[in-house]
Amino acid sequence: MKKLESGKMHFDIKPLDLLSLVEQAITANHAYGEQFGVTFQLTCTLPPVQVSADHNRLLQVLTNLLSNAAKFSAPASQVDVTITRSAEGMLRVAVIDHGSGIPEEFRSRIFQKFAQADASTTRQKGGTGLGLSISKAIIEKLGGRIGFETEINIGTTFYFDLPEHCQLPQSAPLNQPQMRVLICEDSPDVAMLLSLILKQAGFSTDIAYNADQAKQFLAQQHYDAMTVDLMLPGQDGISLIRELREQEVTRSLPVVVVSACPHEEAELSTGSLAIIDCLEKPINPERLMVAVQQAVLQTLGNKPRVLHIEDDLDVVQVVATILNGTAHVTSALSLQEALHQLSQQTFDLVILDLNLKDGMGMELIPYLNSQGSSPIPVVVFSAQEVSQEAFHQVTAALVKSRTSNQELLQTIQSLIRRRRTSESHPSPVRVLE
Ligand code: ADP
Repeated sequence: MKKLESGKMHFDIKPLDLLSLVEQAITANHAYGEQFGVTFQLTCTLPPVQVSADHNRLLQVLTNLLSNAAKFSAPASQVDVTITRSAEGMLRVAVIDHGSGIPEEFRSRIFQKFAQADASTTRQKGGTGLGLSISKAIIEKLGGRIGFETEINIGTTFYFDLPEHCQLPQSAPLNQPQMRVLICEDSPDVAMLLSLILKQAGFSTDIAYNADQAKQFLAQQHYDAMTVDLMLPGQDGISLIRELREQEVTRSLPVVVVSACPHEEAELSTGSLAIIDCLEKPINPERLMVAVQQAVLQTLGNKPRVLHIEDDLDVVQVVATILNGTAHVTSALSLQEALHQLSQQTFDLVILDLNLKDGMGMELIPYLNSQGSSPIPVVVFSAQEVSQEAFHQVTAALVKSRTSNQELLQTIQSLIRRRRTSESHPSPVRVLE
């Protein structure tokens, strides 16, 4: 707990298959459950999904939740374990018991250190009251959250949500020149790690080991974003950022702070330094990529953003080429990737293929309609005609084989214009070719 709190606990973050990890945890806790006559029943309806996490730490969390569920279950009952997606699109593991529930007066303290509902329970059931506080710290370090729902004499569900590990959109190199990120970090190991993560995400990187070197790099060439460690030898990170903000060329350079002192975060984000995000060490690769991507997107200026949801790479390439110069196109090759993109940034328009490898494109419509103040216009661009019902739900529908590149471009341009000029009153336009 001490190590976790001081940030000294080492996390070995890797993409992990969530289902196998949960299966492993259940197997490891099977014998413990047997002591109480409790069996674990796993249900997962998702396709294979991954999280970025430390294997042993996540196993530790699962073991805590499973053993608590067994301990506090009605004798000889079943504990259900489910893997689902939360309403926000996170991956959720829930452990559902049919036990005594958690007394109301104890609920607000349950994640505190050494908290237990009552001492006699402790004597009966064993335990230290540390498990849940450690689990909470681990899950939060992994960029997730932990929670519970409980009803007296009915049972308790403990769950945690973690962001899905997603490959970055494959479209990035198709339609963007390579973006350059300057890493300002004095520890060579951390700098190498940052560089590796960013290179994997398609950025090119340079490393400056102190503020002076960083300024030299910035004077020599253009960067789309920069990461800054706050504790640098010589001039510190904050004063470097402040200096950059005073100069014309670097005034609006997107900066992501990657630092060991998260307590400065609040002060920074409210400050006038225009920092995109503050990430604490150990570095969560997923969060770093998202933060730098967001930073870079800022520099793309005011171009309309189009999300192209399509699993045929040739069509992706063609549409990116047609729209080059008109819009900034992000492509998603599956529904899941589309949901991830939609959770990361806002779009002015969505181009949607109907048949995707993980489901029907139309499944996204309710989600798109619930985004922001006005629904995002949707152009269906698909091999088949849309049904009458679907037709009423989208803004335009174009059949691939019958639509010329020029028509596609014009339709998209006019929809983007409409969206921009009448944000609050989107008027549906239907074009059926
Ligand atoms: P420990 O189990 O070692 O006491 P935890 O931090 O894991 O420590 O749990 C703290 C307390 O929360 C438990 O002692 C118990 O009172 C309550 N608790 C945890 N999980 C459950 C559950 N599934 N049902 C009822 N009470 C629970």
